[in-house]
Amino acid sequence: MSTQDLLPYGLGIPDLVEYQPGYKVDVEIAPFLNKLTSAVAEAGFALRLESAYRPFEKQLSIWNRKARGELPLLSAEGVPMDRPQDEEELMYAILTWSALPGASRHHLGTDLDVVDGNACPEGYEVQLTPEECEGMFAPFHHFLTECFDSDSAFGFNRVFVPGRGKIRPEGWHIAHLPTSRRRLEHFSLGTLRKIYEGSDMACKKVVLARLDKLAEEYIYPYFI
Ligand SMILES: [Zn+2]
Repeated sequence: MSTQDLLPYGLGIPDLVEYQPGYKVDVEIAPFLNKLTSAVAEAGFALRLESAYRPFEKQLSIWNRKARGELPLLSAEGVPMDRPQDEEELMYAILTWSALPGASRHHLGTDLDVVDGNACPEGYEVQLTPEECEGMFAPFHHFLTECFDSDSAFGFNRVFVPGRGKIRPEGWHIAHLPTSRRRLEHFSLGTLRKIYEGSDMACKKVVLARLDKLAEEYIYPYFI
């Protein structure tokens, strides 16, 4: 399989650039991100990345640590919850806040979690929660919404919005859609299945057994 074919799963070697310290993005989106950053700055905000490209191994590590109880599991309301004993329940609990490894849009290098650096109090640790979007980052998000609605966001838009798929809305997650569409042309569920079969993923048996349904609810609705 060529490198290009592996990119949608966070494997292979994508062409990345470190856009802000510690955060890499697909080199193709950098010019558009520059424009969005400038537009945001003119309105008095500072577009700050809190997450960008994430390889398969990183997403697998998050998934497995949540499954093993090494990272907290949060309920749909964002409250820490007990780890379900049943493997299927555990899988769905992880999926409430974490994407399937190999199917995270952060693998694409075109997707970013953003906040307003100007509104962030000194020393505050960003949580990426709906409360922040409606609280300290609300003016920034309202401005972004205006840009998206008026088609003046240089190809960026939100992906995890109410009414789409089963992933909870994430106002902070934006994507450069023209570039991500090109990356996702190479995605195949059959390949993802093979990747899982060869991995040490927690809940692997139940994920493989339910993969078609999971794709309909957690993967394909976001191929926009
Ligand atoms: Zn995100």
